[in-house]
Amino acid sequence: MKLFEKLNLSDQLLEAISRLGFKEPTQIQRDTIPLILKGKDVIGESATGSGKTLAFGAGIIHNSNSREGIQALVLVPTRELAEQVKDEMIKLSFNKDLKIIAIYGGVGINPQIDNLKIAEVVIATPGRLLDHLNRRTINTKQIKILVLDEADRMVEMGFIQDVEKIIKSTPENRQTLIFSATMAGPAQSIAQRYMKHPTVVHATKMVDPSKLKQVYYKISQNLKRELLVNLLKKEDSDLVMVFCNTRRGTEMVGKVLKGNKIKSAHIHGGLNQNKRLKTIEMFHKGKFQVLVCTDVAARGIHIEGITHIYNFDMPAEPGDYVHRIGRTARAGKTGLVINIISPRDDKSFARLIKTYRNFEIKQGERPKLEKVVREIPNREIKHKASRNRGRSKFRRYSRR
Ligand code: ADP
Ligand code: MG
Repeated sequence: MKLFEKLNLSDQLLEAISRLGFKEPTQIQRDTIPLILKGKDVIGESATGSGKTLAFGAGIIHNSNSREGIQALVLVPTRELAEQVKDEMIKLSFNKDLKIIAIYGGVGINPQIDNLKIAEVVIATPGRLLDHLNRRTINTKQIKILVLDEADRMVEMGFIQDVEKIIKSTPENRQTLIFSATMAGPAQSIAQRYMKHPTVVHATKMVDPSKLKQVYYKISQNLKRELLVNLLKKEDSDLVMVFCNTRRGTEMVGKVLKGNKIKSAHIHGGLNQNKRLKTIEMFHKGKFQVLVCTDVAARGIHIEGITHIYNFDMPAEPGDYVHRIGRTARAGKTGLVINIISPRDDKSFARLIKTYRNFEIKQGERPKLEKVVREIPNREIKHKASRNRGRSKFRRYSRR
């Protein structure tokens, strides 16, 4: 057993980690922390749930000092992830006087401007950070460590140019760390251009494959909700996540679940920040059982006690599937992934099987479908219709 004590971490960090209740480092932590503490550039390639936050977080807390300006910048793809990484970093900074802040869009800029003047560590989404750079309300000249967390997702979300501008604003002699599920394409090119002899570290997830069961059901598109409701009622589960590919999908499924008296809530990228954070917090606390969400809204979120993942739609990108299933079967617990596949999902499913040949996804025996409430209550239909009137037709192709 390899202990945190062997990683050359300061006593302050060892105490903070022990307060978090972690007994031993995960693989990516074991492999990257020593390199990060030595000041090396590191590429960590590993999927959700491998413990990356603590890996770079420890390096940052170790190297940042009170009242020396912004010394570390972590770029993340979503607001939720910014909040989550900030919270974890604050826990890691226990007993050390550091101002650690999250910066993202969708909320007022003025409090951020004030906070940026006194912060030592900043976790940010690229768009809003660039906004601050343009307004000259952030000083990036003291930055010693720059982290790109979930780099592949930042590329996918179209942040690449923002990210490059931000990188260029930081001192050249900084340390650069990139974490990504895959280092293909543009993420690779960023690494080549902005990193100094990076060490590449691959790590497996904390998910134990022997504890994870994956099944699929074939069904026609218009019976998907019947199947979902039936399975949700039949399966003995703790917390459940249901993934949809579109915003509209999450709204529709959310309504059907409510209509069938299943305690649930939905989140997607179109909802305002406060609503999303509140919903996630309530889910965290177990106030409702089923979270319906898109990939973007759920990115990087880690919640204990998720026993079931449903893919109401199959993701087009196999990598997204891996992220989705990474939320269950963590740390020795069991998990079940249920894929609901209609002919519309066939292509995505085929691509998944081809990409991850070692996944064992067995066909499940479809239960006898009890009748469910399919209809959205009348007044909601009316409400929806009036809201949609006058919208551009393009809005119908909602993003995630
Ligand atoms: P990633 O960024 O790789 O997806 P996270 O950093 O979000 O993973 O960590 C996933 C979960 O594992 C978090 O709840 C985190 O607190 C927990 N965790 C991290 N390191 C350890 C550890 N050494 N032992 C047990 N749990 C850990
Ligand atoms: Mg992470």
